Amino acid sequence: MPIDEQKRLAALKSSKLLDTLPEASFDALTALAQKICGTPIALITLLDDSRQWFKSNIGLPISQTSKDISFCRHTIRNDSVFVVHDTLNHHDFKENPLVTGAPHIRFYAGVPLIDKKGYALGALCVIDTEPREKVNATHIKSLIDIASLVIDQINMRLTYGFLDPITELPNRLKLQHDIKSTFQKQSSERFDVIIADLARHEQYTSLLQSLGHENSDRFLRSATEKLSKTENKNVTVYNLAVYRFAWLVVDHTQEEVNALLAQIQDYLQEPFMCGPLPVTFDGVIGVATYPNDITEPNELIRAAASALLDAKKNHIPLAHYDVNNDRSQQRSFQVLCDLPEALQSTEQLYMLYQPKIDLQNNTCVGVEALLRWRHPDLGMIPPDEFIVLAEHTALMTQITDWVINSVFKQMTYWDKKLTVAINISIEDLESPNFVSKLKNCMQQYQITAERLELEITETAFMENPKEATKTIDEIKALGIAVSIDDFGTGQSNISYLKHINGDSLKIDKVFIQQIPNDKKDALLTLAILNIAETMNLGVIAEGVETKAAFDWLVDKGCQLAQGYYMSKPLTPKQFTKWLQER
Ligand code: C2E
Ligand code: CA
Ligand code: CA
Repeated sequence: MPIDEQKRLAALKSSKLLDTLPEASFDALTALAQKICGTPIALITLLDDSRQWFKSNIGLPISQTSKDISFCRHTIRNDSVFVVHDTLNHHDFKENPLVTGAPHIRFYAGVPLIDKKGYALGALCVIDTEPREKVNATHIKSLIDIASLVIDQINMRLTYGFLDPITELPNRLKLQHDIKSTFQKQSSERFDVIIADLARHEQYTSLLQSLGHENSDRFLRSATEKLSKTENKNVTVYNLAVYRFAWLVVDHTQEEVNALLAQIQDYLQEPFMCGPLPVTFDGVIGVATYPNDITEPNELIRAAASALLDAKKNHIPLAHYDVNNDRSQQRSFQVLCDLPEALQSTEQLYMLYQPKIDLQNNTCVGVEALLRWRHPDLGMIPPDEFIVLAEHTALMTQITDWVINSVFKQMTYWDKKLTVAINISIEDLESPNFVSKLKNCMQQYQITAERLELEITETAFMENPKEATKTIDEIKALGIAVSIDDFGTGQSNISYLKHINGDSLKIDKVFIQQIPNDKKDALLTLAILNIAETMNLGVIAEGVETKAAFDWLVDKGCQLAQGYYMSKPLTPKQFTKWLQER
């Protein structure tokens, strides 16, 4: 292939037009050409390696033909218009299958589409099934004018495809493109990608709500202006998403990168102008380096984003890429992606039940239902891991639905005196049809309310106290008991107890496990027992691992307890056996 043809094909590829969907802006121009010239067919064709592909097509039932039979192959060798008055009189075309067969081309006029660098990407052409002895000069002039509009359209598309319209900075696509081409040129031994979020998500949304889109656009432009000051011949600034910016740094030493990072950090700490208002946010930065951190250059953006996530999670302003954190993020991602399948499968999820003991007479009064996941590749995944990930996604309510169904089914085999506690999350409390679904399910399995208890953590309650209180009241109205799980760990102001209509407190295992040896834990537990008594709430201690803790709780008058000392969580079969052996 001649070098020029290679370059032409590269230009065509980088126009990113091939195999794209039809676009009204192109179709309008083809329609115009067809109308002015009065032909049944008008096309915008692009000349690929071995085919011509129609970006816009009026009058032809096909989307491409092979290149060797295309008329436009001849057009792109011309500077301007190429006309065939009658194909049957033209030695190059009279045998052409597009002439001898459908669409039976007799007349053709095409103008090459020449890009900024002078490469003909394809042609704008009109085609008739009747020959035309003479061509109308105004038609040809119009065809040339319309072809230049097509070229403008292509250029504009190219510019805006790589630019963010608000900040006018190059976008993520361009960053990917630049990383690839920088790497191909091998001009740089090392390059760094820095990603910075100017604000935390909640900060940006509340800015948007209070100041409106216009002022937040102003904020983005003023940020752009400031951050662009870091640019030089080796440093380029990009805008990846609304408040997310990135830098590609080539040929820099570690010291220079550090200086740049310090500069960016300074900028992020200074106030940004949102219209007339100076606003300060908590910006965060992540950075990844090729080849130190990542050997695959197109992984660099992901690596820098992973570092950014670390910074956010750890509440620090800047984090460097860490392969271990990246692995754990990738695992989290896999776990979340595989969860929908687990919910459908009958092999992966199952429930265990941990006995709850009445300390005054040492009998089992109920169980807590605890979910388990045996992943086909990753093995057992602890609920602490996948439930935390599923929380705040739509998957959480699906998990609860699964748990409720599975537990209720199990309960139909059990003694009606045994109460079963189910853990629910804030997503359930916020879901408008949670209570009605629960009610339906109770009806379906004939489960009465006194056999049920729902556990909700105090942190979940604090996240949305208004919705939580409302739903808890509805649950209570059904006659189902509610207990406040992990009590004492939530860093919350206990005045919320005034509003929450719970039946019992569940003292978290961190206070119970070391009792009675740890004096402070013992004092705190006594205090919680007091609160429960004062507020007329039931109380259960979880995490009872030793006889000493068990005896201490009996002595202090704690009502119920749960823990490995009495039993680990059990399968239904193990639970029946455990009950029999007591
Ligand atoms: P949780 O509700 O606080 O459940 C108690 C956890 O403590 C259980 O861990 C249980 O196995 C463990 N545990 C019980 N006794 C002892 C003990 O004596 N010592 C120690 N060290 N641990 C003990 P598990 O089953 O791993 O569950 C962890 C958390 O996952 C649960 O904490 C709960 O928040 C969540 N979870 C489990 N199943 C479900 C579920 O079906 N739905 C929801 N929403 N969350 C669930
Ligand atoms: Ca619980
Ligand atoms: Ca707990």
